[in-house]
Amino acid sequence: MEVLFEKERPIPPYVRVTVNSLKRLVKDIFIALGVRECDAEVVADVLVTADLMGISSHGVQRVERYVSGIELGAVNVNAEMKFIIDNSAISVLDADNGLGHVAALKAIVHAIEKAKQFGVGIVLVRRSHHYGIAGYYALRAVEHGMIGVSMTNSEPLVAYIGTVERYLGTNPVAFAIPRKQPPPILYDGALSVTPVGKIEVYSKIGKDVPAGWVISSSGEIMSGDAKRIYDAIRRREAAILPLGGYLEEFGGHKGSGLALIVDILCGVLSGAAWGNHVGYTTVKNANVGHAFMAIDISRFMKLEEFYERLEQMISEIKSLKKSPWAQNIWIPGEKAWLTMQTRLKIGIPLHINIFENLKKIASRVGIRFDVEVVEERLT
Ligand code: NDP
Repeated sequence: MEVLFEKERPIPPYVRVTVNSLKRLVKDIFIALGVRECDAEVVADVLVTADLMGISSHGVQRVERYVSGIELGAVNVNAEMKFIIDNSAISVLDADNGLGHVAALKAIVHAIEKAKQFGVGIVLVRRSHHYGIAGYYALRAVEHGMIGVSMTNSEPLVAYIGTVERYLGTNPVAFAIPRKQPPPILYDGALSVTPVGKIEVYSKIGKDVPAGWVISSSGEIMSGDAKRIYDAIRRREAAILPLGGYLEEFGGHKGSGLALIVDILCGVLSGAAWGNHVGYTTVKNANVGHAFMAIDISRFMKLEEFYERLEQMISEIKSLKKSPWAQNIWIPGEKAWLTMQTRLKIGIPLHINIFENLKKIASRVGIRFDVEVVEERLT
């Protein structure tokens, strides 16, 4: 089977499954748990899009976490989400402890409507839950020729510069910018050296954590067995380092500074929780906060002129002298887009442990597991 481009090459043992059958399964799992059909569709689309883009840390491997959140009554499947502040270009959505994906989509759509009217729309969200990949929502603005911004705080996992305790979230930010032709620019990343989801995936597939990602509560840099390190993080005996890594020499103050700002916008300003007050998906009143912005480019200059200027910038970057160790010069979002095109054609690879886990979840919620396998690489 020809693989065109995959940013995250699958490591055996894995199976490759069809996009539609995987999405249908995820949707059915949430419907079986009492989630409204339209909301289940949103969650399934966000999770499967992450896998399509090669972000397995935030793809269907996260289904279990949301399922547990619903089963434990932490996530409100009957949430009545309301815009409690709605003044000109700004708004605040109270998500009523509902699914973060549903709240986030509602908020960015509202920000886009505001930007159509005022040139810019800013929507903050309080009382929400984990929303998955930040970029999914920023990309919605691109469909309207706008710049989209999406950010969220998250449960405390990251050590603030000069500390060894979990306090800040991994707090990702995404900026999506339209281009004349796809792919749009999509910068989407956590403000920690790694999202915790990557360590979780490594622990499920038996891969080692490199030195420089995690610090123990006694101040040692941890590396090796991902399961041991993931468990230490969960027991609060270790924390992920901020973007830039350990101490100021490598820029840890910049990563923790930016994560702090994201938490002020998403947590302090929105009325949600911040820092170590933010709860995990299985915790009641997790009070996760998000922030979204849509910017109407045409209020600044003609869209065509913006596109021409942007293309010139991109072609300048693409013609820079390439480093000998780099395979390619990439613009953020290109690898994700190429991976998505590939996987839409040939399907999504799932590590066998993640595939088996989905089977167990399907049986736990009492639905048929009918994901279509198109390739099997078990050794
Ligand atoms: P990555 O480090 O994988 O990527 C960050 C960005 O850098 C992407 O836009 C990526 O584009 C770009 N990029 C990667 N390599 C290059 C390169 N060589 N040249 C130019 N650009 C490049 O992201 P993270 O691992 O930090 O985050 C993964 C996902 O996890 C994100 O979607 C994030 O939103 C999500 N997340 C969600 C959290 C939550 O609480 N909801 C918490 C933490 C993370 P490309 O994709 O095209 O490679």
